[in-house]
Amino acid sequence: MAAGTLRLRPGREKSLLRRHPWIFSGAVQGVNGEPVSGGTVDVLSSSGQFLARAAYSPNSQIRARVWTFEDERVDADFFRRRIRSALATRQTLKVEGQSNGYRLIYAESDGIPGLIVDRYREVLVLQSLTAGSEFWKSALADLLLEETRLSTIYERSDADVRQLEGLEPQTGILRGDLASIIISMTENGLKFNVNLQSGHKTGSYLDQRENRLRVRELAKDKAVLDCFCYTGGFTVNALAGGATSVLSIDSSADALSLCSENIALNHLNASRQTSLEADVFQALRKFRDENRSFDMVILDPPKFAPTAAQAERAARGYKDINLLAFKLLRTGGMLITFSCSGGIDVGLFQKIVAGAALDAGVEAQIVEHLSQGPDHPVSLHFPEGAYLKGLVCYKPG
Ligand code: SAH
Repeated sequence: MAAGTLRLRPGREKSLLRRHPWIFSGAVQGVNGEPVSGGTVDVLSSSGQFLARAAYSPNSQIRARVWTFEDERVDADFFRRRIRSALATRQTLKVEGQSNGYRLIYAESDGIPGLIVDRYREVLVLQSLTAGSEFWKSALADLLLEETRLSTIYERSDADVRQLEGLEPQTGILRGDLASIIISMTENGLKFNVNLQSGHKTGSYLDQRENRLRVRELAKDKAVLDCFCYTGGFTVNALAGGATSVLSIDSSADALSLCSENIALNHLNASRQTSLEADVFQALRKFRDENRSFDMVILDPPKFAPTAAQAERAARGYKDINLLAFKLLRTGGMLITFSCSGGIDVGLFQKIVAGAALDAGVEAQIVEHLSQGPDHPVSLHFPEGAYLKGLVCYKPG
């Protein structure tokens, strides 16, 4: 029933036996039949034993991604079961709570490699990243609408990684219609305008939801510096939490104007907030030279290291900003520092931050570890799904 078979080289079945879903090109002995891009293949060990059923991706170094390790049909019913299971996970975890923007499907972690689906109020935003998710995209779109009883899907398949699969970018309305490209979503009781067309990722950084709330809880009476503020996720929460001042830095003027919009949307005291359009690396140096100080510094930079290969250069970038941030921290202050680079794991990130504190001459304690929210689960068999890590570092008196 699969359109072809993919046979592995001797000894290369180990990761599949541990249920890791990726098959790299170097592990492949040969392909039989003529599977199309994204079509289903049976994956066999070198001795011909069935191991998995996977989506074939002829252009990618990740030559196939596993749909299932069972001998079951990969068809619309199969995907319906996977979608139902992902929706049930979110329901059980009560991610909806006081937020109506959250991730419904997180690719490999939810057993559907390549497919990301985020919900913003009544609109689903779909991102298809691989040949396999592309092959099934239309069927997946129909199933998603049936299972959620919603009617609109906006597509944001414009991530760079699609190129590695030989796929062109695709964006726009995939199903239904949209009254406005801007959705006003609620996150833990606060409102944020999200532009589905031009917003980063599927529109915003849903993965920071819980961490923004934590900042709200910690910000009372604090002078806050929010670096890489984008549209103000942390800034708005710090103001809502009673910060005395918030200085928000981003290099994008558009992001800063959306940040101001989001402050107004929540009727927060805008006189306590200042926006600075600047490069964070330069701004922090300038603040250090001016002897400025803050009670809370937030660092949420973009991905410096998408892959492990770029980790070294990225490490220098992280060390630089964290070192400067420690220097600006008052006694009793807190550095809340993140990395969303897949190539830097939590252990390495902690070492980088420790090195930064050492060179800044600051004694600090990790008082909390932060990560992506429960709507971005991590399959135990796919540790690559964990990418966002954060540390709350406290500078005691
Ligand atoms: N904290 C945000 C997400 C940050 S995304 C949230 O919770 O929603 C990263 C942001 O960093 C983007 O807005 C981008 O414009 C900005 N950025 C990237 N490089 C920068 C630099 N060198 N200096 C200042 N801002 C930068």
